[in-house]
Parts: sequence; structure tokens; C-alpha cells
Amino acid sequence: MIDPLGRHISYLRVSVTDRCDFRCTYCMAEDMTFLPKSDVLTLEELERLCSAFIAKGIRKIRLTGGEPLVRRGVNDLIKSLGKHLNGGGLDELTLTTNGSQLEKHADALFDYGVRRLNVSIDTLDSDKFTEITRGGKLAQVKAGLAAASRAGLNIKINTVALKDFNEDQFSGLLGWCGEQGYDITFIETMPLGDIGGDRTTQYLPVTEVRHILEKDWTLTDCDHNTGGPSRYTDVLETGKRVGFISPLSHNFCATCNRVRVTCTGKLFMCLGQDDNADLRAPLRASEGDEALNAAIEEAIGRKPKAHEFIIEPGNGGPALSRHMSMTGG
Ligand code: SAM
Ligand code: SF4
Repeated sequence: MIDPLGRHISYLRVSVTDRCDFRCTYCMAEDMTFLPKSDVLTLEELERLCSAFIAKGIRKIRLTGGEPLVRRGVNDLIKSLGKHLNGGGLDELTLTTNGSQLEKHADALFDYGVRRLNVSIDTLDSDKFTEITRGGKLAQVKAGLAAASRAGLNIKINTVALKDFNEDQFSGLLGWCGEQGYDITFIETMPLGDIGGDRTTQYLPVTEVRHILEKDWTLTDCDHNTGGPSRYTDVLETGKRVGFISPLSHNFCATCNRVRVTCTGKLFMCLGQDDNADLRAPLRASEGDEALNAAIEEAIGRKPKAHEFIIEPGNGGPALSRHMSMTGG
């Protein structure tokens, strides 16, 4: 699939559920209304949708959410998608998870062909962790991480940079990741969804994160690329990498290779734009994939040039009404 600007679309992110066992303050409001089950694609429908994308040239799939591992039966989906690996069209199947359910899923994930995971941790202080996730337990996530490492999964930690909340944690997180053998990526907050507060108070540019880290660590730019939007540097002292995702202060749209589908079958051609295409109707209209394929092609034909995020004083509300948990990270 090639969009009108010549970008090859090879990476699909699939939000398998909008539900989550955490309520991270930058991601969700405290009282979230989740989608009625009837709106959500069944696991069989999600598999059919992913297979159609693979047939059209998608080489990498990332399952996300909400929390992908709280969806009942998600293992069956991962198992079927794993069959597309090893010559079946897919180069990589991976997940972004909060890690709370990882302990019981780690071995199966490895067996089904998953080799890398992104796990989100914003602080190593247990009390602060519970505060930012509104109830999450750091010890449970650490147990999940240990199980994942034992199973042979490579781990990258995702940390959202939050002003006046976790600046004092950055250096320690980097050191801890070095000890554990994890890479780490710092992410700027994106203005997605009403969280019941002003986001400008949370926004901290990753240039500032790098500045803070460089007081303790030697970072050198490198050209490591995982097909995602992170820019990486090598950490001399740990031998691991640190990545920075800066959708607001640095625009990465020119090399964008991805599209996202929600658990209701809406295809978003850009994380930072509201335009989307409904794939659920063509999926449910017939058993054959003709209508579905036509809808996908039509949508790729209108992938926008760039996102439209802005965070500035006095403009701290959501740029887009949908939450991050709808389209995933
Ligand atoms: N529940 C899983 C998790 O937390 O990893 C997967 C879904 S979560 C929406 C994916 C990633 O998006 C997480 O790393 C999370 O920290 C990040 N995220 C959520 N809301 C965000 C926001 N408003 N700005 C930037 N990153 C956000
Ligand atoms: Fe849940 Fe992930 Fe959003 Fe946190 S960031 S509330 S873990 S979906």
C-alpha cells in the first residue's frame, strides 16, 4: 500500500479493546464510559481484518489498547496472528502493554512468536506509580517484566514525560533499564481526549528530558530504527538505547509508515487527525473481503500529510476528542 505522498504503509497498530485496568491521568478520565460490547469487533473479526491488511502488504502489527491483555481471549488472536510470521507475510507481531497481566501471558506470547514488548512505566516510586495510574501496582508490573525476560522477550520501557511529576525519575529509570537490559523511550504527552484537566501543565518537551539525562549519562545519536517514530541515542555507560518521541516539538510525519485501527473497526490514517474510515460495515456486510479491501484502499488514498497537534498556553484542552486508549499508542 502506497499513499498519495509515496509513503509505504507497512505497519498496523490495532487497538483490541478500549478498556483498561489502569486510569493513567494523562490518558483517561477517572470515570470513563467504555464502548458497548456490541460495537466492538469480535476476536474473529479482528483476525479477519488483520489478515486482510497482511494480504495488502502490512509487515508489522502492534496490538495495543486500552490494555490489550485485559481482553478476554486475546491469546487466541495472538496465536492466529502468529501464524502469519515466519514466511507468512508478517515480519513482526508485538504489543504495547501496561504489564499488569504480563506474568500470566509471557510464556504464551513467546510461544506464539512475539519477541518484543513495549511496557509502560512512568516512575519507579510505587506510591507515585499508583497515583499516576490511579490504582496500578508497580510490583505486579515488575513481576510481569521478570516473567517476560525469563520467557525470552525483549523489552522496551515507555515513559511519558510529565512536568512536575517524574523529572526526578528519568535518570534512575534509565539506569534501572540498563541493569535490567531494557531500552527505554521517553514520550511527550499528546493532546488526545478529555482527561478532566489542562494538559499544558503536564507538557514537557523531550529536548528537556534529554537535557536532564545528559547530566548523568553520555548519550550519542544513533540511526537505530524500529519502524516507529522514536529517535534513538546510545547510552555509553549502560550499552542500551534511549529513544525520544516528540510528536509536538518535532514533526515525524514525512516518514510515517503506519495506520491504526480501533476495536470498533475504525481506520485512522493519522493519530493526530480525526478523519477515519469505517471498516466494520464492509467487514460485516459479506463473508468475502472485496468490500473491505476497497474500503481500505480508499482510506489509504486520503492519508493526510501531517498531524495537527498543538499544545500552548490557553489551549490545553484536547486537540482531538478521542482518547489515546481508543487508537492506542
Ligand atoms: N495500556 C497499554 C500501555 O499503557 O502501554 C497500551 C495502550 S497506551 C494508550 C499506549 C501508550 O500510550 C502508553 O505508553 C501510554 O503511556 C501512552 N499514552 C497514553 N496517553 C498518552 C498521551 N496523552 N500522550 C502521550 N502518550 C500517551
Ligand atoms: Fe490504560 Fe495504557 Fe491508558 Fe494507562 S496508558 S490508562 S495503562 S491504556
